[in-house]
Amino acid sequence: MSNKLVVLGGGESGVGAAILGKSKGFDVFLSDRNQLQDKYREELIIRNIAFEEGKHTESNILEADLIVKSPGIPDTVPLIIGLKNKGIPVISEIEFASRYTTAKLIAITGSNGKTTTTLLAYHLLVTAGLSVGLAGNIGESFAWQVAEKQFDYYVLEVSSFQLDNIIDFRPDIAVLLNITPDHLDRYGYSFQNYVDSKFNIIRNQTEHDNFIFFDDSEIILEEFKKREIKASKWGISIDHVLKEGAYLNKQNLVSDCRGLSFIQDYSELPIKGPHNAINAMAAILIAQLSNVNPVKIKAGLLSFTNAPHRLEQVAVLNQVTYVNDSKATNVDSVFYALGSFSQPVILIAGGVDKGNDYTQIEQLVREKVKGLIILSIKYEKLREFFYDIVPQLYVTQDIQDAVNKAQEWSKAGDIVLLSPACASFDLFKNYEDRGDKFKTAVRNLVI
Ligand code: ADP
Repeated sequence: MSNKLVVLGGGESGVGAAILGKSKGFDVFLSDRNQLQDKYREELIIRNIAFEEGKHTESNILEADLIVKSPGIPDTVPLIIGLKNKGIPVISEIEFASRYTTAKLIAITGSNGKTTTTLLAYHLLVTAGLSVGLAGNIGESFAWQVAEKQFDYYVLEVSSFQLDNIIDFRPDIAVLLNITPDHLDRYGYSFQNYVDSKFNIIRNQTEHDNFIFFDDSEIILEEFKKREIKASKWGISIDHVLKEGAYLNKQNLVSDCRGLSFIQDYSELPIKGPHNAINAMAAILIAQLSNVNPVKIKAGLLSFTNAPHRLEQVAVLNQVTYVNDSKATNVDSVFYALGSFSQPVILIAGGVDKGNDYTQIEQLVREKVKGLIILSIKYEKLREFFYDIVPQLYVTQDIQDAVNKAQEWSKAGDIVLLSPACASFDLFKNYEDRGDKFKTAVRNLVI
């Protein structure tokens, strides 16, 4: 049995993996190139787990029998290449944790909608009284919970980076919400590499498992032609009827699963927009496949509160609605954000461009956007693309200035929407910081 476990990266998932490793008898060493957060350092010290911070000591790391790598570390850095060349297995935390639990695993991936769907599915199962852990990219790490808690189910938000380093990870229910260009910088600018990574979610599934997918995605359907899918398939559509699976029928969410039909008026739900209909249907199918009673599914759908920064209504001032969609860090999410409104929109967008192609939103911007405010250090690409498309355009590096300008342009009935299509690191710490500063700027407006 491999005995020396090296964990690379000492964030939530790395520290969780180290704790699980220790409890399973590994000789554990954790290494982080940066400083650890105090709370994580303390956890390691209390548990007598060896670690280093501020450096990677290669001689120590190369002695490992098994490596658990943080999803933040690219596979292409020399350290990881060196490990792979030596034949040392490099796995992700979800792979590692899944080896030590017999709980049913529900894994949700996609370029967008992971968090919303994961939170909603978790909420539906908890409301129904099941014993469920919430993990993956959200909250406490999967490995940590496997080490110290006992659940019958886990709902896991799974990113492509975690799927890159799986070997045997096999979810009982896998969900693929969509695949649109994102993170191409980590995939050698090859979209197919990114698609392959997402499809890892079903790689180990058998005929006993279930696979929920977005049936309106041509990219997903194209991949089906190339791959053998052993699991039972359940489609989701917002534009056509499906015999088995879930679809939007006028304003009703309809889900037909194993001979049972579930119907819910979508307009009654607290989440809105076509994208959230997709997410809701995925969560409904998960609940149905987990044998949750329809009455409980309804109760859960109606009592759900989404996480902030996702089409979050901030305020209505002078009949202008201010919406924070700071989590929209790629073009597809802006596409759905714009699709959620019938009113004229003043759009605040920009930040760090991850190789965006704006043609997907060109038509919607023409139809709906009465003014574009670019909030970016590097603004040229956005300005060039939209210069002739929007009636008015403004560039700034200051979020209060952006919100002030939006107010100046707005009329009663308009929407002011922060939906950046870009990452936030040029002007903000992260998307939460950007969303919080937007909310503060809105609250500072003089009316
Ligand atoms: P993720 O965890 O995958 O980033 P979130 O649920 O946090 O997903 O949502 C991220 C952004 O994507 C938000 O701006 C949201 O409005 C948008 N979004 C949510 N669900 C979908 C979907 N199914 N398709 C496209 N965009 C979506």
